[in-house]
Formats: sequence, structure tokens, C-alpha cells
Amino acid sequence: MDEKKQGGSELMDKIVSLCKRRGFIFPGSEIYGGMANSWDYGPLGVELKNNIKQAWWKRFVQERGDMVGLDAALVMNPKVWEASGHLKNFTDPLVECKKCHNRFRADHIEGKTCPDCEGELTTAKQFNLMFKTFIGPAEESANVAYFRPETAQAMFVDFRQVLETSRKRIPFGIAQIGKAFRNEITPGNFIFRTREFEQMEIEYFIKENDWQKSFEYWLAEMYEWMNYLGLSKEHIHNLEVPDGERAHYSKRTVDIEYDFPFGKSELYGLAYRTDFDLKNHSNSSGVDLVYTDPESGEKYIPHVIEPTFGVDRSVLAVLVEAYCEEEAPTTKEGETETRVVLKIPKHIAPIKVAILPLSKKEELSNVAKEIYKEVSRNFFAEYDETQSIGKRYRRQDEIGTPYCVTVDFDSLEDKKVTVRDRDTMEQERIEIKELVNYLKNKF
Ligand SMILES: [Zn+2]
Repeated sequence: MDEKKQGGSELMDKIVSLCKRRGFIFPGSEIYGGMANSWDYGPLGVELKNNIKQAWWKRFVQERGDMVGLDAALVMNPKVWEASGHLKNFTDPLVECKKCHNRFRADHIEGKTCPDCEGELTTAKQFNLMFKTFIGPAEESANVAYFRPETAQAMFVDFRQVLETSRKRIPFGIAQIGKAFRNEITPGNFIFRTREFEQMEIEYFIKENDWQKSFEYWLAEMYEWMNYLGLSKEHIHNLEVPDGERAHYSKRTVDIEYDFPFGKSELYGLAYRTDFDLKNHSNSSGVDLVYTDPESGEKYIPHVIEPTFGVDRSVLAVLVEAYCEEEAPTTKEGETETRVVLKIPKHIAPIKVAILPLSKKEELSNVAKEIYKEVSRNFFAEYDETQSIGKRYRRQDEIGTPYCVTVDFDSLEDKKVTVRDRDTMEQERIEIKELVNYLKNKF
């Protein structure tokens, strides 16, 4: 392992440990010994994740006139997966070691022997990634159903209803945020590849001739979004997926990769799905999913550009990008210590403002609690009066809180508080009655 990779796994360990220690993300079912590859978002993680989802929804649905939302069922009629090709094609090649019986994805291992014990491997067989379940009490093949392996299909299956009720005209899109399930053979890298994950997905319906223009447009939109998340351009790379490696429905796919600590890996994807899905669902359901141009009267099956954004991968990329260790002065003159700070963009930080009275004395906490009440009406805030002020600053730095408001004994006299900036650590005295406006300007 080279030095860079070692540094990478060390960074990854630090992020996983911070996430657990501070309540962003912890192993699922831990009191029962956990469950492989299951992660729960704790109090701060759920805030960060929700902020990302809400910002995405606002940007791509609410602020545009050409997009509508959808929230469809997780378990759909199995005929959907027959028509979409998932029953037949959504597979990975699986090999098993004849000696230690560990299983691997054939395309993920380099040699011809088991990476764990060098034992002989079976020949690869195709393994379908969909999670199977049964509807109702009888576990019979007639009752088999699947958890959706992608959110996309509902946007095609509901296309006609959305079109009729929203009265949108081409070009327009349907957006959805929701969970999807894939029975991955080798999940891993924390929340990067999990069997249960969340997607933010758009199906953008166009005329066939416009596909190249629309593809480039959406690629640019995705870059603006990554910029909003604070991901720096140097860490983002486009991978043009070559013929033969694309999903069965796609005519062009660009994987947007990010420099994760464990290596360059797919963050988002953009695919031109042609009219594959609507055509197949038309044929398979017998319901005509054609679009009639209201002006020319022309009838056609729309083509589709699909930008896909992994929610969990967004969270992970934001954490990786935001994680910083830097030398900071302590309260003792001339001394420094390493501070860990999550420089999460302010607008998606889990907690926006922390209210910190210098001591637990009642005269201070009375004032501080009033301030907390007022600030909370405008920003998600936290009130914390335990431990030394230095330790409380470090904690807020570690969870990425952009502003700390300190209430001290001078506050009782001059009616001012100290506002500390997370990134610069600069402090400013602000009048209490001006505080909310001051913070509003900062966000
Ligand atoms: Zn083995």
C-alpha cells in the first residue's frame, strides 16, 4: 500500500470515528452486535442529510417551472421489473472461494484465486441484485415482489398521470427522493456502498433530437450543485462510460467521480436512457405512453435524460471535503493545539448557531436562554452550558456549527454578546437586540 492510500484510510477512520462520537452516523443495531453494512443517521446526521435533500428539492423542483415531484411506493408490481429489464439484466457476476467460501464480485478481483486465502474460485454465475420479498402470508412464487433497486421506474410508470394532472409540456422533468435497495455482494466503505440507500433522481423528458443539448445542460447543473455542496472542482472527475460497460438502457453515461479517501469513486451519474423505459412500459402494460405536442399535434414517445444523485454519497463527500485539522491557539499564551473542524457550507450545517453562556450562574443562563429562544425561531440552534468554553468551542467546531454566541458577565452590563466564526475563529461583539439580524445577514 502506498503512502497516499495509507493517508486515505487514516482519514476515513477519523471521519468514521468522528461520525460515531458526535452522533452523525453510527453502526445500525449495535446493541445486538450490529448488522453488516447497516448504518443509522444520528441526531446530527439526519439534520445534515435533510438539509442536503431539502436544498436539492428547492433547487431542482420548487425553483423551476419545468419540474414536478413524486413520492412513489417502494414495492411495485413485479411486472415493472420485467419490463424495465431488471429481472433479467440487473445482475453482478458472483464467484465463491471453494476453500473459505467467501463470495466476491468477479469484476472486483484481480487474480484468478481468492483474495483472502488464494483458494480456487468457482466459475462466475449471475446474481440478481434485487431484494425479493412476498406479498401477503403465503410465500409462493405467485406472491413474489421486489424492493425497488432504483427510484426511476415510478417516474416512467406514473408518467401519464403526472402529465395529465400537472399539464406540463415537453421538456419537463419528474423528480423524486427516496430509498432504493440492492443486494450488493460486496458493500463497504462506510456509507459509500450500502444495501439500503437513498437517491435523489430526475427523469427529464425531451424530444429525441434534443438529447445532446439536454445532456450537456444537466451535466453543468450537476456541477453547480456540487459547488453548492462545497465540493472543490479538483476532486471531481468525469468518467465517460464506454460501450459495453453501460447499463442495459443507456446510450451515453457519464459517471461523476469524487476523490474519496479510499480512491476515486462514483458520486453521481448522468445517463441518456433514450425512450427505452417508456417504450417498454407502453408495450408491456398496453397503456400508450405517448406524448402529443399541443401545438403541432405530433405524437411521440419522449426520450429521457437522467441525472442521479446519491444522498448518502453526498453526505460522505461533504464530510470528506469539510474535514480539517489545523493548529489553533489555546487560552494559554503562545500555546497551540490541533483543532478538528468540519467546514461544512453554512447553509447545510446541521446546527447553525450555538448559544454558550460562559458559566452556569443563573444571572447568565437567564439571559442566554432568552437569546436561545429568540435565535431558535430563526435558526436551528443549540444551547450548551457544560464544560469549559474552550471545550465547547472545540465540540461545535467538530460538528461544523458556523457560529457560537457567548454570553458573559459583560453582557449583563453592555447588552452585547460575542459571536465567534467557526472558520476564522474571529470574534465580534454584537448587540443582543441586533443578533438575529446579524446572523440573518451571515447566512
Ligand atoms: Zn478463500
